[in-house]
Amino acid sequence: MSEPPVVRQEKPQRPSRAPIWVGLAVLAWVILMMTGLPFNRPSPNSGTANAARLTAVATVGMIGDVVQQVGGTCVAVTTLMGPGVDPHVYRASATDARELQAADVIFYAGLSLEGQLSEVLERLSERRPTVAVSELAVPEDLRVRTDDGYSVDPHVWMDVSLWARTVDVVRETLSLLAPECATAMGARAASYREQLAALDQWVRDSAASVPPEQRILVTAHDAFYYYGRAYGFEVHGIQGISTEAEAGLADIRAVTDLVVEREVPALFVETSINPRNIEAVQAAVRARGREVAIGGELFSDALGAAGTWQGTYIGMLVHNTKTIVEALGGRVAPLPPALREWAERWQVPLPVEQAERSAQAAAPAVEEG
Ligand SMILES: [Zn+2]
Repeated sequence: MSEPPVVRQEKPQRPSRAPIWVGLAVLAWVILMMTGLPFNRPSPNSGTANAARLTAVATVGMIGDVVQQVGGTCVAVTTLMGPGVDPHVYRASATDARELQAADVIFYAGLSLEGQLSEVLERLSERRPTVAVSELAVPEDLRVRTDDGYSVDPHVWMDVSLWARTVDVVRETLSLLAPECATAMGARAASYREQLAALDQWVRDSAASVPPEQRILVTAHDAFYYYGRAYGFEVHGIQGISTEAEAGLADIRAVTDLVVEREVPALFVETSINPRNIEAVQAAVRARGREVAIGGELFSDALGAAGTWQGTYIGMLVHNTKTIVEALGGRVAPLPPALREWAERWQVPLPVEQAERSAQAAAPAVEEG
């Protein structure tokens, strides 16, 4: 007796053969759609020429922003987790369940970031395209390994060059679902990747201004390893990768020792994490006769408020880098020309480099692939 073929989404770790897997999974859905599923239902605001062709749901804001940047007017995006929300402990509400049920496509990070949502996502993946962008975008050899239950650190967005790889995963998925938008989305994706490449270089240049002995980043939880690896900081989180387990006294003491011994100038709180552990370290350092500043608030696992520059992925990295670099004794560079439009649109209070480099104007970047 032979068993019927079962397609199972393996939980935390699926083999990542990036875009081919996305292509196959989504293609299967496109074929299903063409063979009779009532999938092309009208969107709520259909009838106008500009009505979005697809509705997409993203779990975290970083993904929602990529989908919006690539999809443009072809896609209406809803993000489940807003500012200050911690994805490690997030559970789906009744409203979320409705949004997920109604979506044409769902994008989530994977690598166990959305721990409490994994069952819901798994069930949904049987009925509609459900795409784990980080798992598909980041090849095995570029993942940060951990020795806790996670085994892979999910905070991929902290390394801009890695996160930029999610753009093509999203573009490929959306292009298969809305082929009439593929050309426009290809252009938008290329433009966004150009901005992210410039952002990556800006973070690198700005980080390099911090004196080497002060490139120590102490935060509430372990969200910054990718950032540290990419931009040259030694990283210490009081809590582990997930925020589900409480930090203990031993964790506080170990970080306090480090701050005192290495004369770390500043600690950082996070918008989605209670600041009490960082404040406990600050008090413990003071009790040993030294001062350490709270260098500011970082966006670790959630974007800032919608409608502000910190509410964009680029803004998250610009804000974090400015906060970190200045508190640790460096100085951020002027924003690159590729980010001028973004900076003007959001009225970002940072200077933008004036002169376009003539070499760039003369030789436009060649798109890969
Ligand atoms: Zn986290």
